[in-house]
Amino acid sequence: MDYKKLSELIFPNVTVTPEELEEKYPKRELPEGARVTRFAPSPTGFIHLGGLYQALLDSHLAHQSGGVFFLRIEDTDRKRLVDGAIEGIINTFSSFGIEFDEGATADGEKGSYGPYRQSERKEIYHVFAKKLMSEGRAYPCFCTPEELEAQHERQTVAKADPGYYGEYAVCRDLPLEEIEKRLAENKPYIVRFRSEGDKTKTVAFKDEIKGELLVPQNDNDFVLLKSDGLPTYHFAHAVDDHLMRTTVVVRGEEWLSTLPYHLELFYALGFKRPQFAHTAHIMKNENGGKRKLSKRKDPEAAVTYYAENGYTAEAVKEYLWTLLSSSFEEWRRANPTLPSSEFKLKLSKMSISGCLFDMDKLNDVSRNYLSRLSGAEVMALLDSWAPEHDKALYTLMEKDRAKIEAIVSVGRGGQKPRKDLTTLKDVFPYVSYFFEEHFVPSESEKLKSPDARAILADYASVWSENDEQTEWFEKIKALAARHGYCPDTKQYKADPTGYKGHVGDVSAIIRLAVTGRESTPDMCAVMKILGKETVIKRLLAE
Ligand code: GLU
Repeated sequence: MDYKKLSELIFPNVTVTPEELEEKYPKRELPEGARVTRFAPSPTGFIHLGGLYQALLDSHLAHQSGGVFFLRIEDTDRKRLVDGAIEGIINTFSSFGIEFDEGATADGEKGSYGPYRQSERKEIYHVFAKKLMSEGRAYPCFCTPEELEAQHERQTVAKADPGYYGEYAVCRDLPLEEIEKRLAENKPYIVRFRSEGDKTKTVAFKDEIKGELLVPQNDNDFVLLKSDGLPTYHFAHAVDDHLMRTTVVVRGEEWLSTLPYHLELFYALGFKRPQFAHTAHIMKNENGGKRKLSKRKDPEAAVTYYAENGYTAEAVKEYLWTLLSSSFEEWRRANPTLPSSEFKLKLSKMSISGCLFDMDKLNDVSRNYLSRLSGAEVMALLDSWAPEHDKALYTLMEKDRAKIEAIVSVGRGGQKPRKDLTTLKDVFPYVSYFFEEHFVPSESEKLKSPDARAILADYASVWSENDEQTEWFEKIKALAARHGYCPDTKQYKADPTGYKGHVGDVSAIIRLAVTGRESTPDMCAVMKILGKETVIKRLLAE
């Protein structure tokens, strides 16, 4: 067969050579050890938590090594495109502090290794498809989808491996005249790779995360170009990651099954293969078993879920780091105040077998993260989060921001900061009772007894908003003693005879009357923020 002639027949308009492209996209000039990574989503409008996890890893690998992280849009499946998806990806990642150095932008692109949208790279793919065809490593296939479907059924019955190989690869050796005839009849065709592999043999391969693996050789004549001339994932991956000079391909482990395609393809194209880092799926416990975190079943699979529910980007990242690397938590304990971007990641320490998504753990990480912030830092987060996600809180912020800052500042700093806030959604209920329009007086019977009424009235006459902690507590103790409650809890526990209760019971009554709650931050601070008028009014309310 004259393969050169065949390639001219199929690609008459392709005049650019692979060598010209190699020259146009030269090896990047980067420092030794610098990594080039990419995030390569289909612009479907949905960003899965797993995508964020990969992008975090990509940007970290590139930026800690002085390399480049770029965004490539895999839009060859034209049916799945969604308007505004690219902008959504860029903005979402940016809100997590992940920036692309080059690649697609909302309305164009930046960088000299583009185009970065696969739909604009058709000519480039055709250059390499032509090269493969001229060397006998690719051929047109005229099988219709129906014929392939029927073949697939025959394979199922015969318990044969699925795919286009051996006796099933009916277009593999069509004579040139037959191909010419079908082309003249305008028969639609796709372009397939001609595999030379033997699936009874294996190839050794080292994954940067999973370590040494043995995978079977490929023997499948998989598709390179679809009937619309656009490439499959496999072909585009090889051509793009080569020409864009990716050094580490970080992608989900679902691509491991077709890795043998990619290994053979890189070899046939004469491309140096990049490193591969296949990340484990994020799993979820269900009914005693585990399953993948699912876009359909789990709202938390969508990256948008987190901001909507008050999780800050930093806390989510921090949590993802605990999933990504078994050594992160130890690092965090040793470095409680450093930003997570300073963590030095070792790919070989990454989770191999699937990492478990655990809401309780996320909540824990988020609570700890928020507890480490100053009141002013919490306010800065609220400034950007509340307008879109918590209108009620935002209204209060517009009314009296200083008051909210004072409230969220109580009990921060120091060795053991308060941990009242799990997410920013907890801020509204945390501050609402400071505002008359949201204060809900307690209906508790505890406040209705004559004894309680007397304690509250007495306290209203002695409390002063100028009292600091010690004085404040002395007054409560004296108040307790005046009303027959033991001023010392320990002493009361040792011998309660002769007391109605202890000082804690008295302050619980005050707390309930003033805040409507059974638990609040430090009452001395709370009452100062509430101010004299409100405190007295609530103490004396009927
Ligand atoms: N577009 C592919 C995906 O959505 C990218 C995989 C890769 O990173 O190579 O899974």
